[in-house]
Amino acid sequence: MPSRPRRPTPERTPTGLDPRARAEAIFARLAAARPDPHTELSYRDPFTLLVAVVLSAQATDAGVNKATEKLFAVAPTPAAMVALGEEGVREYIKTIGLYRNKAKNVVALSRAILERHGGQVPREREALENLPGVGRKTANVVLNEAFGEPTIAVDTHVFRVADRTGLAPGKTPLEVEKKLLEIVPERFRKGAHHWLILHGRYICTARRPACERCPIADLCDHYARAGATAGGTAPAGKGGKGS
Ligand code: SF4
Repeated sequence: MPSRPRRPTPERTPTGLDPRARAEAIFARLAAARPDPHTELSYRDPFTLLVAVVLSAQATDAGVNKATEKLFAVAPTPAAMVALGEEGVREYIKTIGLYRNKAKNVVALSRAILERHGGQVPREREALENLPGVGRKTANVVLNEAFGEPTIAVDTHVFRVADRTGLAPGKTPLEVEKKLLEIVPERFRKGAHHWLILHGRYICTARRPACERCPIADLCDHYARAGATAGGTAPAGKGGKGS
């Protein structure tokens, strides 16, 4: 006898809300505060965005912007970057962490764009991820910001906020990305990673989340579990690592 399909157990978050309804409410609030979010990295076109994102690993956007202001003035294209060479690039970015390796990657990816893609940054994920120094997170940022794709890049802020709120906890950035893509309503998908980054950078910070002024506190698992008993400011909990 065929077995009857099991009825799914109704899911509830510690806030008492259905996870999808909660995701909808969270992004509606974050979107209301910033209707048109963008990266805080300075760039002129897909190429300079790609270089800025590669430089931003383990560095602040402000630090990267300071370096790229001068770098892009002399090398705004792949050809100019190759002509400047690794040593030349190093001089402009030596205030940024891991600058030696980053200079090497920036010149190598510029050369690859010239040789394989006619000088244009490719729009396909696979081609992007095959460029030197470009991983999934960087490809997601470029696809989203430069080409308008609804990708969700998971950096340390997105990872932490997804975990603390309970939106999409996971062990790896890829796991979190997949869960977010499942749960974030389509109309919020393109802005999702920007809203989560900004929320993580300015409110749900690593060491001391500012729960007392958080616009989504009533929708947050971490707050539901601990915040109410901590006078409005919840302890950092397991999402408290990273920057
Ligand atoms: S309530 Fe606190 S832990 Fe939850 S998202 Fe807001 S700042 Fe982060």
